[in-house]
Amino acid sequence: MAALPVLAQDGSISAERIREHTRFLSLDLLEGRGVGQRGGDISTEYIATEFALAGAQPAGDNGSYFQKVPLVGVETTPDAQLSAAVGGKSVDFRWLEDFVGVSRRQTPQTRFEGEAIFVGHGITAPEWKWDDFKGVDVKGKVLVLFTNEPASNDAGFFEGRALTYYGRWTYKYEEAVRRGAVGAILIHTTPTAGYGWEVVRNSWGRETPFMKLAAGPEGTPPALAFQGWVTREAGEKLLALAGKTVDELLAASEKRDFQPIPLGVRIRGSMPAKIRDLDTRNVAAIVPGSDAKLKDEVVVFSAHWDHLGIGTPVNGDAIYNGAIDNATGCGILIELARAWASLPQKPRRTALFLSVTAEEGGMLGSEYYAAHPLYAPGKTAIDLNYDALYPFGRAKDVVLTGAERTTVWPLAQQIAKRLNLEISSDAQPEQGHYFRSDHFSFAHAGIPAFSIEHATEFLGKPAGYGHKMWEEYNSQHYHQPSDEFQADWDFTAVQQAAEYGFVLGMEIANQDKLPDWRPGDQFHR
Ligand SMILES: [Zn+2]
Repeated sequence: MAALPVLAQDGSISAERIREHTRFLSLDLLEGRGVGQRGGDISTEYIATEFALAGAQPAGDNGSYFQKVPLVGVETTPDAQLSAAVGGKSVDFRWLEDFVGVSRRQTPQTRFEGEAIFVGHGITAPEWKWDDFKGVDVKGKVLVLFTNEPASNDAGFFEGRALTYYGRWTYKYEEAVRRGAVGAILIHTTPTAGYGWEVVRNSWGRETPFMKLAAGPEGTPPALAFQGWVTREAGEKLLALAGKTVDELLAASEKRDFQPIPLGVRIRGSMPAKIRDLDTRNVAAIVPGSDAKLKDEVVVFSAHWDHLGIGTPVNGDAIYNGAIDNATGCGILIELARAWASLPQKPRRTALFLSVTAEEGGMLGSEYYAAHPLYAPGKTAIDLNYDALYPFGRAKDVVLTGAERTTVWPLAQQIAKRLNLEISSDAQPEQGHYFRSDHFSFAHAGIPAFSIEHATEFLGKPAGYGHKMWEEYNSQHYHQPSDEFQADWDFTAVQQAAEYGFVLGMEIANQDKLPDWRPGDQFHR
């Protein structure tokens, strides 16, 4: 293996520069970097300008730094209604207090009505001999279910503690569409979701971007009239109409012989929405490789620039600054572009610095890129993604979710050793981080991809400090207006994560062969 590339004095990754980018991008002035909002436009201009100043070349549309991503913004209006009725009894749920949700039909008004059927976790996973539907036809019905998956400590069953894609709420709605349901209502509990109701409410009670529903030869593809969540309390009221409780059904949904339970309840809804075209954009810059042939191949670094914009006020603050999530990742991306562009001897393959839009709305910017790539998947070595790094001191470790599933793993371990970092496994596998950031869009396209995540161990801090900080961040600041820049943050760990990706990316860019997933991996190409 080549010697450690010298992080030359002027090329070296600077914690201070990353800090300044993070500070700027999370100012109130940037209004939370909302997709389709002014703050988002300023953010992308800033990132493009920094790429240009760094000496990275434009890689977007028509010689610009921007790749246009055409989306549709759907904002359910507060007069939305959801109710459940049986016999003479009915319960009306209150918008934001009790429920959030959206119609996927991209029309200004959607009304729906259907029989409620409880389907446990809503999972059909043949590889683990699990089927919550048992062949029951749910066409035209409203699914009531929990997110997450059957609890497991057995690696041979739903990958043990780790959340699989079956446990993600996105899977639930996709499965509901596949089965012809009219709607799907997730009953929120903090343990099944992994976060509190405020996170659900803040993420859903606002304009949500979607890919445009494109009419094909068979007409407009099917779409749910309602996908949403109710609070646990609202769920209790709904289930009480059927003589059931949340705890009882949570227990039932853990059993392999679970059968769908028709609740005998009719769900009715009216989902008025404001619809508009959202012309948003990814920011893309390259530093061409030095090898005549290999420069047609690319190492991608990605970080989403968007956050939640201006939304529901919490304690009088309506700006969702997203300092950690993900101004930190953008700061790293800009600094990596600068350091790479200033290398006197460029690596053999090209490097692409890609700041994607609409991650918070479902990783749409990266999904769009994967469908409209600047370099074909077969010419893309890897995606190294950054999302929400912790500026809490000097790290002792680095967390790589999913690296062990790729042929890059031995190299990833060697580089950790060289940089004096342990590799820690994901401390919260049950959170399903692998499915929750943009590298997943690349993985879906068959490209080896993972995130370089925040550290778990910090120098001079008690063991498990990173986990403690995660718990604090996740419960108090994640997707809240209080995810704000703090002047006393120490960006050393963020710099270390950037250096790690820089060296790893450079080694991959210089290797003879392209990386791959390990044989047998679900993403193997
Ligand atoms: Zn994020």
